[in-house]
Amino acid sequence: MFEGISGQDAEGFLRYLSDLYHRFNIARDHFLQRPFRNRKDFYNPFIISQGLKLRTLNNAENLMKKYIKDKRMRQMISFQTLYIGISPNKGPSLYTIIPMIEFLYGIWFIKGGMRTMASAMERLFLELGGKIEYDTSVDRIVIEEGKATGVSAGQKTIGSDFVMCNADFPYAMKNLVKEPGHKGKYKDEKIDKMEYSCSCFVLYLGMDRKYPEIDTVHNFIFSEKLDANINQIFDGSVIEDPSLYMYMASKIDPTLAPEGKDGIYVLMPLSDIKTMKYQWTAETSKMYRDKIIGKIRELPGMEDIENEIVTETMVSPLDFEQQFNANNGATFGLKPTLTQSVHLRPQSKATHCDNLYFTGSSTHPGAGVPIVLLSSKIAVGELLKDENHR
Ligand SMILES: Cc1cc2nc3c(=O)[nH]c(=O)nc-3n(C[C@H](O)[C@H](O)[C@H](O)COP(=O)(O)OP(=O)(O)OC[C@H]3O[C@@H](n4cnc5c(N)ncnc54)[C@H](O)[C@@H]3O)c2cc1C
Repeated sequence: MFEGISGQDAEGFLRYLSDLYHRFNIARDHFLQRPFRNRKDFYNPFIISQGLKLRTLNNAENLMKKYIKDKRMRQMISFQTLYIGISPNKGPSLYTIIPMIEFLYGIWFIKGGMRTMASAMERLFLELGGKIEYDTSVDRIVIEEGKATGVSAGQKTIGSDFVMCNADFPYAMKNLVKEPGHKGKYKDEKIDKMEYSCSCFVLYLGMDRKYPEIDTVHNFIFSEKLDANINQIFDGSVIEDPSLYMYMASKIDPTLAPEGKDGIYVLMPLSDIKTMKYQWTAETSKMYRDKIIGKIRELPGMEDIENEIVTETMVSPLDFEQQFNANNGATFGLKPTLTQSVHLRPQSKATHCDNLYFTGSSTHPGAGVPIVLLSSKIAVGELLKDENHR
């Protein structure tokens, strides 16, 4: 495809892959898989020299200009920073490793969808002797004499040797850790001042038929004015002409829709609640829902989509905040800016309380399922290190 546009850009694309692969190896070996608990974990000559090699001060779009001249081609491999809720025009250029990973390692699908991963982890946990309390909302991490001793949920208190908190870090610090002295530097004012990733509006549609006219599982529908669209996502304005990710999993996994039908999931990135300059109401959901349907209707074979919808579920930034406790409805947690990354991102071990650990997208190394799983691995490593040390 790149060759079809320009031979020079095709060469630039290969140079981009090679350069970013080099930087990815440095990030993977020295930054992504380890904790930064103490200042000296980062501020030492070796790590600083590796950090400089990452050359991440530039933003994604500017970095891409060095490799590729055609703006559309550039946009095709810089918009992926949106996967972790950050603007391609502002975020650190290192995140252009995301499309590189897609190109080199491919895109993988778990049979049954993401739910299979959650249920597989549940099964493993139960096999190992774990016990899960379902539908239970924790309202406090119990801390006694500087040590976490369990959690409380309504009338119930569950005691434990350690607490590993997977709720969104900013929300947890604000709401579950009650004593300011146990929050360290993450007091409420600091949490409110931090920068948050974007949010999204999601439509889940059960359709009355299959769509052979669309032959791909993953579809990106770009705004005609992508720059303006990205500005609106991050400056809090109403999104005029959205960009969409349309996913049709039933095309590769028929178990995900009734026979002869398709299921469609559409994701539209928009501002987190703190950044949003407008109030989210039922009318806002309706407005965005109609914009989404309007854009999909332009695709081949989907002209009559409105009449072919059998079931419809909407998930808004308010739902992410209220149902999943994502602070500000920011679906990818704290924004991975330079000042909120690596040693400057919340770490797994609580700084002002023993036996308390955090994991999840707002902690180091960041958002997205594979990266969150790395954060859980780091957090477990930290916990075991402390236990063995005792
Ligand atoms: C629409 C959408 C699409 C995405 N697509 C992709 C993708 O294709 N690939 C990818 O890699 N990533 C994707 N992501 C990002 C990915 O889902 C997240 O980065 C990841 O799930 C974050 O994991 P987590 O464990 O930090 O948080 P979560 O998965 O949100 O888990 C936190 C859990 O804690 C629970 N919780 C919160 N508060 C409490 C409480 N007080 N008591 C009890 N439980 C509580 C919540 O209910 C939630 O279940 C997507 C995200 C969204 C929103």
